[in-house]
Amino acid sequence: MNPLAHSSSSASRLSALADLGAQIESCTRCPRLRNHCETVAREKRRAYASSDYWGKPVAGFGDPQAALWIVGLAPGAHGANRTGRVFTGDRSGDFLFAALHRAGFANQASSISREDGLMLQNCYISAAVRCAPPGNAPLPTEETNCSSYLDAEWQLLRHKHTILALGRFAWDAVLAMARRQGCDLPVAKFSHGQQVALNQRVRLVGSYHVSQQNTFTGRLTTPMFDAILRAAVRVDPQSSPEF
Ligand code: SF4
Repeated sequence: MNPLAHSSSSASRLSALADLGAQIESCTRCPRLRNHCETVAREKRRAYASSDYWGKPVAGFGDPQAALWIVGLAPGAHGANRTGRVFTGDRSGDFLFAALHRAGFANQASSISREDGLMLQNCYISAAVRCAPPGNAPLPTEETNCSSYLDAEWQLLRHKHTILALGRFAWDAVLAMARRQGCDLPVAKFSHGQQVALNQRVRLVGSYHVSQQNTFTGRLTTPMFDAILRAAVRVDPQSSPEF
């Protein structure tokens, strides 16, 4: 491949992802979610009383040439909805980024603000729904409203070979996205370590979500998640890694 052509296509994808991010951040398709995020941002949690909450939809973050695309459920009310970056500023992010750092996808183990110097290599992170939902439970109509952003990322993340879905909601959202993108798929139920080939090149891997509810109870442990990430770097979508 002509290296100049490669770098110009990568620059244009970066720019397209930035445009998509700007579009997401100004989205108002779901009045209930917009209202909730703004209310949380105004009222704040006592521990963050002096923080300036982001309060807007949260775009994806990471390397436009990523082989690994991680999809979560939605921003945390006092995490990404506060800091403006996915999985940044809460316990879920602490667990996720420490693991990404151990696996070589992140330059640092912590993620506390958009200005903290965190960079991802070969990894991109986004969510099925881009606004923090009450009770972590988006309505089906809200998921549908937000699905075009996943579709756009599918088109732009040309180097993806593994999509890692954190939890059942993300798993189902990725399968629905893959079907909209023309993948012919059987019914596939979520379970930790489950994987499905979405097409010849891309596979979906499921993991329990990195939420406190799972990590504090031992449902998802550090060795379990490290094993998922180790397997996620394998290239062959037909391979069957052990978890
Ligand atoms: S959830 Fe998605 S579609 Fe709904 S307002 Fe937020 S960004 Fe827009």
